[in-house]
Amino acid sequence: MIPEICTKTYTLNTGAKIPAIGLGTWKSTDEECYNAVKTALENGYTHIDTARIYGNEESVGKAINDYLKESGISRDKLFITTKLWCSECKEPEKALRESLNRLNLEYIDLYLTHWPVAIPKADVLMPINDEGKRLVIPYDEWNYIDTYKGMQKLVELGLTKAIGVSNYNIPKLKKILNDKEIKIKPVCNQVEMHPSLPQIELIEFCKENNILIQCYSPLGSTGAPILENEILQNISKKNNISPACLAISWAVARGTVVLPKSVSSKRIIDNIKIVQLDENTVKELESIGIENPQRVGNPPWDVKINLFEDSEVY
Ligand code: NDP
Repeated sequence: MIPEICTKTYTLNTGAKIPAIGLGTWKSTDEECYNAVKTALENGYTHIDTARIYGNEESVGKAINDYLKESGISRDKLFITTKLWCSECKEPEKALRESLNRLNLEYIDLYLTHWPVAIPKADVLMPINDEGKRLVIPYDEWNYIDTYKGMQKLVELGLTKAIGVSNYNIPKLKKILNDKEIKIKPVCNQVEMHPSLPQIELIEFCKENNILIQCYSPLGSTGAPILENEILQNISKKNNISPACLAISWAVARGTVVLPKSVSSKRIIDNIKIVQLDENTVKELESIGIENPQRVGNPPWDVKINLFEDSEVY
């Protein structure tokens, strides 16, 4: 199989198009991030994922603006996402205007609420308690539904083309979908997803409700541990493609957006090239996580936040 540059797009529930593969930018220094975004845009990517908490919006924005200037390509050909950090949940307009300033952009294509928790505003973006847990505002005082409601006006203001959520499970999505004050449905739910965490029920629920899934940590996050899996390695050898190409192709074959992160030029260029997988291969890879689901990202919130089920508090 010969991997080819992926040009697939999906249509969001707003009617806008989103490219199936986007560059992830978490955990990169300013310089790495600038070079990664610039390399990506020069090599076929039109979709970049960043977030307030990554601390790299300035580098992302500089790379985008330099690329637009040098290439003559218009802004509307790109799809840019950033995320509302949990400590800014009560002031989404202020937070997004600040993100736009850092990005040096007039609007973004998608604004996500980063986690379904609210954390207190403090001098630091992530206040922690004596046990090292991330402090959380009590649910009754402010919660993810209040946050999402407040984000709706950002679309009307033209600051973002769409809004969505991240790290939501089915019960939380149901609460958003059933709330009468919520008029703008999330366009997507960005969650951890890879062959060790295939989340089949969540995919089904989101498909039924026209909410697109975006897969984060598609290679298993730092160090790409998913690529060591024996089943994945055997299938990639059989098809003469890299394990990373297989994991990314699998996500696209399942109809999801996928956001591989890399700061290596070679990997960035490779990660947008995919192959078409048949249904049996998709299922074989899903079996890895059905038998033994494994989550790589589990931040230490100071509340019980179960990402699979609803919980008493969150
Ligand atoms: P990924 O699963 O994308 O893995 C990144 C790791 O894989 C890095 O160590 C990278 O190293 C390595 N890598 C990349 N390409 C290859 C390759 N072809 N072969 C071998 N190794 C490779 O991890 P992330 O956790 O960063 O997830 C992707 C993106 O999703 C994030 O960057 C962020 O944008 C988003 N995200 C969103 C979250 C949310 O809460 N909404 C949470 C986590 C992530 P190197 O850079 O050296 O190439």
